[in-house]
Amino acid sequence: MIRVEIDGNSGFCAGVIRAIGTAEKYLGAHPGKLCSLGAIVHNEEELSRLHSMGLVTVDSLEEAASVGSGDDPVLIRAHGEPPKVYRQAEEMGLRLIDCTCPVVLRLQKAIKDAYYRVSPEHGSILIFGKIGHPEVLGLIGQVPSGVDVVQDLAQTIDLVSSGRLRTDSPVELFSQTTMSPVEYGRVSSYLESVLDPGVLVVHDSICSQVAGRHRLLSEFAASHDVVVFVAGSTSSNGKVLFDLCKRTNPRSYHINSVSQLSAGWFPPECSVGVCGATSTPKWLLEDVARAIENLQ
Ligand code: SF4
Repeated sequence: MIRVEIDGNSGFCAGVIRAIGTAEKYLGAHPGKLCSLGAIVHNEEELSRLHSMGLVTVDSLEEAASVGSGDDPVLIRAHGEPPKVYRQAEEMGLRLIDCTCPVVLRLQKAIKDAYYRVSPEHGSILIFGKIGHPEVLGLIGQVPSGVDVVQDLAQTIDLVSSGRLRTDSPVELFSQTTMSPVEYGRVSSYLESVLDPGVLVVHDSICSQVAGRHRLLSEFAASHDVVVFVAGSTSSNGKVLFDLCKRTNPRSYHINSVSQLSAGWFPPECSVGVCGATSTPKWLLEDVARAIENLQ
């Protein structure tokens, strides 16, 4: 018999719950259309549910203006946006519904403050994050220049050895909110060892909801024979968390939807853990768990 357990700690984080709840409330009160600047959540299944309610994902404010009625607001998702987007919306006369996560807002402000601290001393700001990720673009855009982004330890080593990061002036290090705490620890320890003493300030900027999940997810993955990890293909948090599952339990499989399940993954007598990212809806985890139970 296959026993299936859904991880109680998986599912939307507070920032995503708030953004989706706001969109649903708006569409409930104003049936029709609401444009979201970028995908409100990195999960194709949840996006198609929201699109069927009237949410339209657009890539730019120009596109929002052409799609909307002129009066429709544009939703800013939990990842946040750089200040230039707010300026452009004002110039275009577009109303915004700002769902930037409060944790991201605090991080944006912290980066701005750091910029004014390090600039007079020719210092640098370094972000450990996914290059091109919308949250990272929103963070970089808070300051005029002088921010470097590294995705891993290898890029950090390259930044230092190529001389692009000065080792003798202040460096303030931040992480995108959804990165791996273990990797962030590696990057900060390396910098500590090569920069002049006292120049590095490491900010604890991984979201506490994400940091807590890493340990709990590791325990969850280790406690099952097979792990089915559910997340959208574009979710960066999904990639980080799936890698963690795979390291802990080699019989871990990543799927986007129920249709990707394969009966061959499950021996006759096994326990299966179903889990996901901060962008995976609970209803999808439940659908997957039900589908696995129905395989027997
Ligand atoms: S992961 Fe944390 S910081 Fe990022 S949107 Fe969710 S709650 Fe906010």
